[in-house]
Amino acid sequence: MEIAIIAHDAKKKKVIDFLQQNSTFFKLGKVNLIATGTTGSKIKEAGFEVNALLSGPLGGDAQIAARVAEGTCKLVIFFRDPLEKHPHEPDVLMLMRLCDVHNVPLATNEATASLVIKSFIEEN
Ligand code: PGA
Repeated sequence: MEIAIIAHDAKKKKVIDFLQQNSTFFKLGKVNLIATGTTGSKIKEAGFEVNALLSGPLGGDAQIAARVAEGTCKLVIFFRDPLEKHPHEPDVLMLMRLCDVHNVPLATNEATASLVIKSFIEEN
């Protein structure tokens, strides 16, 4: 199952903490992590296998949006920073829209991501 991880700069530490807290799930052979570029580098440094795509501002969110539209990516965990402006906001909106179009779960904060991961663990 392909799962996308994205974190705005102010949330990168939080997303790594989240992955480590749920490492048993994220290191399962059946979970295939993809991420935007800088988030992906940090995930690799933390010891997880991940396919790092382009950095968000250079099109990484758009690449993930395409995988959602194609049906490849089954869950998006996106720790957004609601207090800053981002130059690639149109790409972020596109990603969130396509998650809704294709009914793909999208967790935009830690509390939601925890609930979603719990339910994925129970289902599998
Ligand atoms: P980044 O992109 O992981 O390359 O920083 C995240 C984003 O801001 O969309």
